[in-house]
Amino acid sequence: MTDGIVRGKRPSVGALGKINAILHHHAVHAALVRTRHGFERVVSFQPKEPIHLLGPVAEAASDLLSHGDLALILKCGNPRCILYFYDTTKNHARRWCSMTVCGNRMKVAAHYRRRRRTRERRLGGTSTRRMRHRS
Ligand SMILES: [Zn+2]
Repeated sequence: MTDGIVRGKRPSVGALGKINAILHHHAVHAALVRTRHGFERVVSFQPKEPIHLLGPVAEAASDLLSHGDLALILKCGNPRCILYFYDTTKNHARRWCSMTVCGNRMKVAAHYRRRRRTRERRLGGTSTRRMRHRS
């Protein structure tokens, strides 16, 4: 579903049906309690069956689909990463799911590629000289 959203598609009726089926069994209970300053709505999550564990995920998905900007959902720029993220940066230039994980890995990989190219150019010049020396 997320991959389709990133490509500009809307979630399918089937995907919404699955989310709604999980929300139907969502094990959240709300209660109104009296506080020192008035009242407070207290929500508790009480899972009793395995499907209840998907409730918070379905709730987050429904919240994102109903209140979020789907254009801000992006796939991580690391081709080996499977994660998506919601870009809340000012200029919407975020590229990684996490700067400390994928951002650093991709920067380190780019650094080593540049260094290797530079070294290969230098070695290429050296090996040419060696070959000239040998012949
Ligand atoms: Zn990532």
